[in-house]
Amino acid sequence: MATAPHTKSEYDAIVVGGGPGGSSCALTLARAGRSVLLLERDAFPRFHVGESLLTYTADMLERLGVLEKVQKSGFVVKRGVELTGTEGLSYRVDFQSIGEGRRNWTFQVERADFDKILLDSAAEAGAEVVQRARVLGPVQEAGQVTGVRYTDGTNEHTVSARYVIDASGRAGVLARALGLRKTDNSIRMMAVFKHFTGTNELYNAGAHGDIVLGNHPDGWVWAIPIREDKLSVGTVVPVDLMRAGRAEEIYEEFVGRIPRIKQRLQHTKVSAELSGETDYSHYADNLVGPGYYVVGDAGCFTDPIFSAGVFLALTTGTWAAEAINSSLTDPSVADDRARLYERFAMTGMDTYHRLIRAFYANNYSVYEYLWEECVSGGAPISSVLQLMNGDFWNPDNPLGRRLREAKEWGVFENYEPYFTHPVQGIREVALAR
Ligand SMILES: Cc1cc2nc3c(=O)[nH]c(=O)nc-3n(C[C@H](O)[C@H](O)[C@H](O)COP(=O)(O)OP(=O)(O)OC[C@H]3O[C@@H](n4cnc5c(N)ncnc54)[C@H](O)[C@@H]3O)c2cc1C
Repeated sequence: MATAPHTKSEYDAIVVGGGPGGSSCALTLARAGRSVLLLERDAFPRFHVGESLLTYTADMLERLGVLEKVQKSGFVVKRGVELTGTEGLSYRVDFQSIGEGRRNWTFQVERADFDKILLDSAAEAGAEVVQRARVLGPVQEAGQVTGVRYTDGTNEHTVSARYVIDASGRAGVLARALGLRKTDNSIRMMAVFKHFTGTNELYNAGAHGDIVLGNHPDGWVWAIPIREDKLSVGTVVPVDLMRAGRAEEIYEEFVGRIPRIKQRLQHTKVSAELSGETDYSHYADNLVGPGYYVVGDAGCFTDPIFSAGVFLALTTGTWAAEAINSSLTDPSVADDRARLYERFAMTGMDTYHRLIRAFYANNYSVYEYLWEECVSGGAPISSVLQLMNGDFWNPDNPLGRRLREAKEWGVFENYEPYFTHPVQGIREVALAR
């Protein structure tokens, strides 16, 4: 029999996938002294889209003890958002207005390096990390997930654990195998993107470090400075507009429609050729079940317009780890912990989904909606900024409340929201009965 790359026959937890969801989960469990095996399909560093972070994401990184490492890696500091369009006009949302006592900056990151920092931190905390290990599916006994099957490229292996966490992102290995994955047809878009090097701030008409979002009649375009001389530029397009063989042409045309982004591409070189994400919006109708948890994109992905994907992956990964850790200590509370985790994760994912629905329902512009529904209705701008930076679990946020009232915009059916602070509230899941 071939020697397996993992070292034990059974672990407390197996984490499938080493993105932000998987790494934060493995790191938290390993720090709590649990035996953790993390299986990652690729070899890090590897390319990943999803580069603009929220201010609350920096709070999560601090909670995980990795903020300093991220800070030292020379990523670009993000202090605002520039909104622009086809006419070259612009409006800047400055995070200074986010309100007293809240962080007003975060990072734009090159995900290859950022994800590696997180994965290495999980390994340093004691998680056993095996790369180039592609999970093929769960092992089940009497309806309970008891492990996984994976391949190291040559041989197939089976390994057991008391919990398996699906953190495999949009692949959703467990979610699909367990029949949880549902397609969400409310937003039928896709994204195509490239990286450019050799950018020069001389051609940036806006503020250093801001993400630029450009609207046009057929979708929107992003420009994210992920290094001082590197820009990620992508366009989100209705699926029906994208025809086979036309991706490059459509990319050029749509990016070219946004003058303030186009001008930043002068004298640059493509450093990552065009790639794309189809099979866009989905969710899993359960995020917990016998022997398993689902975190991050494996649980829900709608659209990247408000840059909350990494934040949701980090929070759900960490909350799942806390829930699992206390369930391992006292199996009699396992059901309560699992339910609380699921309510927490669904509240965040659902509120974010609703914000995105508001954007698409308002012709690729949520700002009209925000002004009419919130700001002119008396909600302070700080509350809007807080929600857009990840305050999805605040029952008192006027925009969040407004969004949750729109019955037709929900993603999960019949769940009971759980309101808390996503970072300061983390220990609640370990204590709740
Ligand atoms: C076009 C686009 C733009 C985006 N922009 C932003 C943004 O600006 N800001 C933001 O916060 N988010 C953004 N996102 C979302 C963000 O990329 C994700 O939400 C985030 O990466 C989710 O983290 P995760 O850990 O759940 O999954 P991932 O980061 O996708 O990690 C999953 C990991 O699982 C591994 N894996 C997959 N299958 C297997 C398998 N069978 N076995 C073992 N391992 C496996 C993968 O290799 C991967 O490393 C964007 C997404 C898209 C599509």
